[in-house]
Amino acid sequence: MIYDLIIIGAGAAGLYAGASLPCKKNGLILEKSASPGKKLLLSGAGQCNLTHGGSIKDFISHYGLNGNRVRTILYRCSNQSVIDFFTECGISLFEREDGKIFPKSLRATDILDCLTEQCRKNGLELRCSSAVNRIIYHPESDDTGVLYTIVSGTSHLQTKKIIIATGGCSYPITGSDGSLFPMLQALGLSLNPLKPALAPLFVEEYPYNDLSGISFQNAAVSLFAAGKQIAENCGPLLFTHNSFSGPGILNLSRYVTSGMQLSVCYYPGRSEDVVLKELSSALSSSSKQFLTEIYEYFNRNRSKEQTDLEMPKRFLEVLCKRIGIDPAAKAAAIGKNQLRSIVKLILQDKFVLSKTGDFNTAMVTAGGILLDEINTKTMESKRYPGMYFAGEVLDIDGDTGGYNLQFAFSSGWLAANSAF
Ligand SMILES: Cc1cc2nc3c(=O)[nH]c(=O)nc-3n(C[C@H](O)[C@H](O)[C@H](O)COP(=O)(O)OP(=O)(O)OC[C@H]3O[C@@H](n4cnc5c(N)ncnc54)[C@H](O)[C@@H]3O)c2cc1C
Repeated sequence: MIYDLIIIGAGAAGLYAGASLPCKKNGLILEKSASPGKKLLLSGAGQCNLTHGGSIKDFISHYGLNGNRVRTILYRCSNQSVIDFFTECGISLFEREDGKIFPKSLRATDILDCLTEQCRKNGLELRCSSAVNRIIYHPESDDTGVLYTIVSGTSHLQTKKIIIATGGCSYPITGSDGSLFPMLQALGLSLNPLKPALAPLFVEEYPYNDLSGISFQNAAVSLFAAGKQIAENCGPLLFTHNSFSGPGILNLSRYVTSGMQLSVCYYPGRSEDVVLKELSSALSSSSKQFLTEIYEYFNRNRSKEQTDLEMPKRFLEVLCKRIGIDPAAKAAAIGKNQLRSIVKLILQDKFVLSKTGDFNTAMVTAGGILLDEINTKTMESKRYPGMYFAGEVLDIDGDTGGYNLQFAFSSGWLAANSAF
């Protein structure tokens, strides 16, 4: 049997590619795991945040330094195209206040079922528990048009075209364990080193172990290397028992190497001088305890950048302890230098970064097959005709908010629609 197409990997990118073929094909999807779309089912905590609202132009800045290089891919199959696709398949979607788009059912299984059904309608057979071990290229295609032999276990499968959609290395329990990368390298394809992204950040001397679960709706976080700011972000921040997490932090993780500095502002939109002046005047005539006074100040004087969450008292108590102030001390007795120290911690809490979470906790993989290896107008390999790439296997990773699934879908669509 000679296949028109073999898709390697039944994740978001491979399935969307199969589902958006322009015409029926004699094809096969080979999936390593026992079932398809395991990571898709985990996405958005099982609710599947499949893309983001707004203009596709605004997506470009959400893919780190490579955003501009995937513009064509995103424009050819935009967020609106993805919304239209699922809507036409009978799945109602909705946009949350924060711009994230989900199926109305809030069930990732609906998205997965829809994609596998469309693949089936397009003539593709899905074969699970079928890891690909080898890809053999036949440069001199005979009149059968066979360009590749795909080896999976004892099967040698002949095909005219392939789409490689094997994902990255994060959450290896889903099947995306990076096992195909060495084989791709053996074919001479170049790779940017793989590293965890959308991962929590670990710092030296993390002081918030006991505050696990406390979150800030809007914290400003900045990353510094050798004193120079290299990235910044504003968004929700979460303390875990051993690290910083939450979207604002996760989106920075792609830039992190150990030894860099992290600065966190829990109260953005106010300058140190203003806060210090206002606090000093509030404290000078106060008969209350210091902790009560600063708690009231930071929850009363909220700027437009502050939203609905309060500045937690337990957090302020830990800050007091960090700089040696008794939280129960009389507010009026606190000196200017101590006050400045606490304001500094709230506006610029500085840490040395030790590491990011590993591939078991990172939601995506930074690095992958270099974008230079493909024609980004078609997703076809520049070295190997008839070999297309889609999704996270490529050197691209997006922010949280639906940007990674959008790239998987866009690149899958483009690969399928360039191949045929
Ligand atoms: C917990 C979690 C939550 C997430 N939530 C969201 C979200 O809400 N929104 C969002 O946009 N993104 C989210 N992401 C990221 C998003 O899920 C991924 O970016 C996306 O699934 C990548 O799609 P892909 O098809 O490229 O790779 P994958 O989905 O990883 O699929 C690759 C497939 O290839 C298979 N495979 C690997 N090697 C082989 C081989 N040798 N032979 C055969 N098959 C192979 C794997 O088993 C896997 O099924 C989340 C990720 C995680 C881990």
